[in-house]
Amino acid sequence: MRIVGIEGTAWAASAALFDSETGEVFIESDPYEPDSGGIHPREAAEHMGGAIPDVVSTVLDRAAETSEGDGGGIDAVAFSRGPGLGPCLRIVGTAARALSQTLDVPLVGVNHMVAHLEIGRHGSGFDSPVCLNASGANAHLLGYHNGRYRVLGETMDTGVGNAIDKFTRHVGWSHPGGPKVEEAARDGEYHDLPYVVKGMDFSFSGIMSAAKQAHDDGVPVEDVCRGLQETVFAMLTEVAERALSLTGTDELVLGGGVGQNERLREMLAEMCEQRGAEFYAPEPRFLRDNAGMIAVLGARMLDAGDTVSIPDSAVDPNFRPDQVPVTWRDGEES
Ligand code: ATP
Repeated sequence: MRIVGIEGTAWAASAALFDSETGEVFIESDPYEPDSGGIHPREAAEHMGGAIPDVVSTVLDRAAETSEGDGGGIDAVAFSRGPGLGPCLRIVGTAARALSQTLDVPLVGVNHMVAHLEIGRHGSGFDSPVCLNASGANAHLLGYHNGRYRVLGETMDTGVGNAIDKFTRHVGWSHPGGPKVEEAARDGEYHDLPYVVKGMDFSFSGIMSAAKQAHDDGVPVEDVCRGLQETVFAMLTEVAERALSLTGTDELVLGGGVGQNERLREMLAEMCEQRGAEFYAPEPRFLRDNAGMIAVLGARMLDAGDTVSIPDSAVDPNFRPDQVPVTWRDGEES
C-alpha cells in the first residue's frame, strides 16, 4: 500500500510517501519561518499556498521513480483535518481533495494529534501506550479506552511550545524558541519558577509570565531557561507518570516538536526506568509536524475502510483527538 500524506496545520508545509510494504517514509517539508514575532495565521497560509504544490510535486516524482506502473502506484491521499490554523487547513484540504480526484483514489481525513501518537506506536511496536503530546499548540496525555483515545490530562491554557516561544519572543530571540532555550539552559543555573499541576492538568501561562519577569529583573537568561525547562518538563513528567499509573500501562511514547528536547526525553526515560516502564521517542523528523505521520496513520485508516467523501471532508481547526472513532484498532482490548 502506498499513501501520500499532506500536512499543513501551522508552520510545516509537508508531503510524504509511505510504502507499507518496504516501510519507507519519504518526507518533503518546507517550513514557514516568520521574519519577526510568532506564527502569523495569514502569513502561514500564504506560505502554505506557495509551498504545498511544490512539496506534493516532489513526493509525486518520488512515487513515480519508485513505482513500476503509471501514476506512482498511489492507493490513497491522507491529509490533516485539524486541529490547526483554519486558513492553513483549508489550503491543505483543498490540495488533498484535488489530488485524490486527479489520481482517482480515496481520501483519508486524519486528526493531527492522533497522528503524533500513532507514529510513536508505529515506531515502537508498543501495543497500547500512553502518549505525551508535547507540541507547539498542545500539551496532553492520551490513552486508549473503548474505541477512542481519551484525554487523560491537558493544558488548561497555552500549549507547551507556544509558552516557551512567547518567552523567547520577549527576550528578543527569533522563532522557534525551543531549540534556543535548550541551548542556553546548558550554561544556566536553575532559577525557581512556579510549578502548576492541578490533578491531571497543567498550566503554563503563569510560568511564562514569571520567566519574562525574571528576565526583566536581570536574572541571567541562561538561568531562566534552565529553570523554565526543569519546571515545565518536570510537570509533564509528573502527569505522564500519573497517566501510566492510572491506566496500568507500562509503555510511554512521546509526540510533538518539544519532544525533540534532549532534557525532556532524559527526564521521561528516567521516570520510566524507575517504574519499570518502556519509553519510546520517535526520531526528530517524526516528532515535529510532518506529513510522514499523516501518511502512516492514513494507511492504517485506509486498511480499516475509514475514508471520507469529498462533501464530508471539511477541515476542523478545533478537532480534538477524543472525537475520533479509532476504527483501525477495532476489536482490540482497551
Ligand atoms: P501542534 O502539533 O500542536 O499543531 P505545532 O504545529 O506548533 O503544534 P510542532 O512541530 O509539534 O508544532 O512543535 C513546534 C514547537 O516545538 C515550537 O513551539 C518549538 O519551539 C518547539 N521545539 C522545537 N525544538 C525544540 C527543542 N529542542 N526544545 C524545546 N522545544 C522545541
